[in-house]
Amino acid sequence: MPVPHTLLISDLHLSEDAPHVRKRFLDFLAGPARKADALYILGDLFETWIGDDDIASPLNQKIVDALQALSSAGPALYLMHGNRDFLMGQEFALACGAQLLPDPTEIDLYGVRTLLSHGDQLCTDDVEYQTYRKQVRSSAWQRKVLALPIETRRQMAKDATAMSDKAKQAKTLEIMDVSPQAVTDLLRKHGYPRLIHGHTHRPARHVYRLDDHSCERWVLPDWTSVRGGYLQCDRNGCRSVPF
Ligand code: MN
Repeated sequence: MPVPHTLLISDLHLSEDAPHVRKRFLDFLAGPARKADALYILGDLFETWIGDDDIASPLNQKIVDALQALSSAGPALYLMHGNRDFLMGQEFALACGAQLLPDPTEIDLYGVRTLLSHGDQLCTDDVEYQTYRKQVRSSAWQRKVLALPIETRRQMAKDATAMSDKAKQAKTLEIMDVSPQAVTDLLRKHGYPRLIHGHTHRPARHVYRLDDHSCERWVLPDWTSVRGGYLQCDRNGCRSVPF
């Protein structure tokens, strides 16, 4: 019997332009994910999400069907918003048989208190991004945008991606990483849990001491045509499983 375990992934950035990643994800859902107690998707599953009324587009429908097949086969499925797919809503979650989690969410993972986050909130040195985030996460902005025609939203998403790519080129790597102070503040606030997040595309395990507590911070890998992977956690701890 395999040890009961949970898998965590993030930053797949699924899009019509990345068929390799989509195939790898579908293989993952039909393979390793089936044996898990639960699968947590910690944000940026999609490169863009323009609203739950776009579920029927070919890529989205394929992914919904595969997630639904997984959740009905047994594993619990949890979704968190990323900075790209923050418009994913209850309709999408319901169609997948998933539960949407707030960011951050604290869970008990086989006896270890674990805090889950996408990670973009921790990039506090990127002041410009945090201002943008505050705007697009407000319910007033989202209501207004979701009322626009789907084609208008599609174009807005394209423009936003282009703008974000351009802004990234002008920013240093330090600015786009998590701020050590933001991580410290978060760990203190929550009583020094294990922290698992994605977003920065810098997969790693950081182990260090803070205020006399030993702390562990896992950064999940992003998925591209050449790399990717998942975190597997059980009662003995977590390990990174690359593809
Ligand atoms: Mn992200």
